[in-house]
Amino acid sequence: MTIRSAAPKTHAATNGKKTAHSVTVTMPAPSPTPAPSAQADSAYGTAIAQFDQAAKILQLDAGMCDLLKSCRREITVNFPVKMTDGSVRRFTGYRIHHNTSRGPTKGGIRFSPHVTMDEVRALAMWMTWKCAVVNIPYGGAKGGVIVDTKKLDMHELEGLTRRYTTEIAPFISPDGDIPAPDMGTNPQIMAWMMDTYSMHQGHSVPGIVTGKPINIGGSAGRNEATGRGVMFTVREAYKTFGWKLPGAKVVVQGFGNVGSYAALTAHEMGFKVVGVSDVSGGIHNEKGIDLPKLMAHYRANRTLTGFNGSEAVSNSELLTLKCDVLVPAAMENQITAANAGLIHATMIAEGANGPTTPGADDILNDRGIVVIPDIMCNAGGVVVSYFEWVQSLQQLFWEEPDVNGRLERIMIRSFHDVLDESKRRNIPLRTAAQVLGIGRVAESTKTRGLYP
Ligand code: NAD
Repeated sequence: MTIRSAAPKTHAATNGKKTAHSVTVTMPAPSPTPAPSAQADSAYGTAIAQFDQAAKILQLDAGMCDLLKSCRREITVNFPVKMTDGSVRRFTGYRIHHNTSRGPTKGGIRFSPHVTMDEVRALAMWMTWKCAVVNIPYGGAKGGVIVDTKKLDMHELEGLTRRYTTEIAPFISPDGDIPAPDMGTNPQIMAWMMDTYSMHQGHSVPGIVTGKPINIGGSAGRNEATGRGVMFTVREAYKTFGWKLPGAKVVVQGFGNVGSYAALTAHEMGFKVVGVSDVSGGIHNEKGIDLPKLMAHYRANRTLTGFNGSEAVSNSELLTLKCDVLVPAAMENQITAANAGLIHATMIAEGANGPTTPGADDILNDRGIVVIPDIMCNAGGVVVSYFEWVQSLQQLFWEEPDVNGRLERIMIRSFHDVLDESKRRNIPLRTAAQVLGIGRVAESTKTRGLYP
């Protein structure tokens, strides 16, 4: 790649303002190798469509667009795991670093039968913009293994985690790329990853992952952080728009890490949670669900079904229940052009990554439904992961109120940054968040310049 320094020209990402240290660099035109193609209805298709829209508003040149759209490093690993019955099975996993302009890469590990390289690319790209929107010093990464964890016993799950960690070990480090939990992974899996990496180094390396259990260097408040951050954002939006909070109805799709803590926090804040679901279906109670009791019921039975006073609803019915705030907290592509017209909420707060397709976005915007986008709304997880990383590197641990207070300040500040961008340019919140995040990454890329 060649660098062509341009005649002094203001870079659009600085919004007309030249920063003290910025260097004006024009990126070269796209190389002949195209970025991997994206299917329009895939998560990667969504990520690229969103990027293109924001890049046009920022007037990024073709070279910069090509660079930011591509993932910097991608690794596929095929590895064996010894099963309990003595057989050996081969699994496939990925780890992708999207962009490193603003710091080491950060992003979760997903264990799911539906993981694809394209999905991991999309998730890594969203991580880059997300870290920039909340202004923490990371680029984006993501990883995953194609596996249905329900079909593994604990011994097999541990074996798979340890071997996958070993396979991607040359690709991760506390200074370069720090994994965390995502769909299908949890603190125990992070503990096995940390232990495996540490065994290779010959000493404990707590900074290699975040989302670890607290007794091995995890942060107070990390487990709850994503769901809590979603509701800090929703509460701030309610306050800003002058909407009445007590008793406002909330529906949450997904009852895993993000969904369960978003629902519990909503309940604690005075919202009325009227519906929740997991992969096997949902429950609805117009009078409000007692979340602490539901959490206990779920822990004991591993199902939502049969919870006192509630009626069963399907996942598609759940999304169209009458409510004020809908929190999709399961997975991508749940709100599409096919069901966006049926949604009754006045606000959608995206706990999941990529739950809304671009086609659905257009319909929701036309209907005046406020969508707080994923890269802002669910950033609480990576914010507290950042706190955990800092604590792990320093071996100095913070009290939970300190963690929560710092998280709340960052979520509130970021919400207002996105809202201000949206008002200033008269664009929806999602586009505003993308413009803010992509603009910051483009600016850092220009400031650093190209090596060599
Ligand atoms: P998780 O595995 O803990 O929970 C996922 C939940 O979604 C489970 O309750 C599962 O039953 C449910 N689910 C799966 N498919 C579903 C479907 N088709 N319909 C309804 N429910 C379904 O995962 P998680 O960590 O809570 O992640 C959920 C989403 O949030 C993902 O998109 C993830 O990328 C995103 N996210 C997670 C974090 C984090 O800190 N864990 C941070 C930011 C974003």
